[in-house]
Amino acid sequence: TPAIVWFRNDLRLRDHPALQAALKAGLAPLPVYIHAPHEEGDWAPGAASNAWRHRALVALDADLRRRGSRLHVFAGDSLATLQAVAAATGAAAVFWHRRHEPGVEERDSLIRRTLHRQGLRAEAHNGHLLYEPWQLATRNGEPFRVFTPFWKAALAAWNPPRVQPAPTALPTIGTVPGEVPLDALGLQPRRGWDARFWDPRFQDCWTPGEQGAIAALGRFTQEGVHGYDEGRDLPARSLTSRLSPHLHFGEIAPWRVIDALVGTTAPEQRAAYVRELGWREFAHHVLHHFPHTTDANFNRRFDDFEWAEPAPATLDAWQQGRTGVPIVDAGMRELWATGWMHNRVRMVVASYLTKHLRIHWRHGARWFWDTLVDADLANNSLGWQWVAGTGVDAAPYFRVFNPVLQARRFDPDGTYIAHWVPELRGLPAAARHAPWEAGAADEAARSGYPRRPLVGMAEGRRDALAALSRMKA
Ligand code: FAD
Repeated sequence: TPAIVWFRNDLRLRDHPALQAALKAGLAPLPVYIHAPHEEGDWAPGAASNAWRHRALVALDADLRRRGSRLHVFAGDSLATLQAVAAATGAAAVFWHRRHEPGVEERDSLIRRTLHRQGLRAEAHNGHLLYEPWQLATRNGEPFRVFTPFWKAALAAWNPPRVQPAPTALPTIGTVPGEVPLDALGLQPRRGWDARFWDPRFQDCWTPGEQGAIAALGRFTQEGVHGYDEGRDLPARSLTSRLSPHLHFGEIAPWRVIDALVGTTAPEQRAAYVRELGWREFAHHVLHHFPHTTDANFNRRFDDFEWAEPAPATLDAWQQGRTGVPIVDAGMRELWATGWMHNRVRMVVASYLTKHLRIHWRHGARWFWDTLVDADLANNSLGWQWVAGTGVDAAPYFRVFNPVLQARRFDPDGTYIAHWVPELRGLPAAARHAPWEAGAADEAARSGYPRRPLVGMAEGRRDALAALSRMKA
């Protein structure tokens, strides 16, 4: 008898509790993927996510075929599809992994109840996190709003799942009525749109799928992890793991990442890295308990903050990396070209948008949503609200990043800037952080770079603080 294994953001075969549950029950796993972006509310996946997902699904299908099975792909309403597949195949059960996005949680519990009433075994497992959001709580039984105590509680309760190999063979199940080819889902970048508007190079930077994830983890455990604690803030060096899209799509389980680090390097380096995975846990905890924070300020005091009306040209300049602030432009161009941006630079570009340009963080979050290959509703909402000062455990609003000082500190010889902003390559290293301060504005302008920043460093800070002081207490 078949059991539907409903693949979602868990596109792997190792460490897959839902697949293991089917096998343990003595049922034949029937791998199913359902394309249903209309069920994701306002946060249907963006263009970069779709492009990634397409390739990750192709990879998953290939991995399944090597084991005698394959991915059965459908498009339409999830519940109706699961019911139809169960009816057509005589499946006795449906297994999947929980997701915590608002709307999706409700949809999934409705599906579980409905299937259950119809006599099917319907089970949701944890496949995405070290802790489900309700497993950790403050002493008063409330959700955490601050990272440090959250992470302390997590470490005190430490009990990550054990790693498990992928099954070596899976049963073959014939065609199910209603299947569609993967290529028909429209996930790949559209041609005209791609060439006119998007840098196709980003596809070459990555290997989506479980094997790509395992390879990225291998590279990180051999190289990056050794200097992670000090090096993770330097965008010119590749010391971070770049596992974020693989983790988002569940191509690798976080507990496998942690397991692979054991014995590789000094404990402080490992602890620094695992703590970053802790931020991912925290972001999902916050998203589950405060689902409105995808769109609304966590700190309601900011509801009457005077955001500037974003002029299309200003927003465009930020998106296209033409603000005249070299580190900001380098970051935005890295995002455009690769679908990813270094964390330190994400903070800087987000700060420049929300503080210096005083544009609402939602505009930034939306752009990231469409362009990041690791776009993740939990991590993205938390990151934007943290920088804007409106979120849980946020940086105090008055701590406005000065992008020039950030660049001098974290890209001291301007290597990162020169890589992404070729107009500034000819300048001496020390002039790249702020050409207008170094008497190099004319030279920059001759190469087509803006002569001055859209908003100056001191002026932007002054206006942001003034707007803050006008906010109601
Ligand atoms: P590593 O340094 O190798 O970290 C390992 C893993 O830990 C990451 O893959 C990620 O899963 C997790 N992690 C690290 N830092 C954070 C963090 N601050 N918050 C949550 N999880 C973290 N991350 C996303 O995955 N998706 C997003 O949409 C996203 N949007 C962001 C928006 C803003 C404004 C900011 C400031 C940060 C955002 N981040 C987001 C967090 C962080 O920038 C990325 O996770 C990180 O840069 C990914 O690179 P890496 O895998 O090499 O990280």
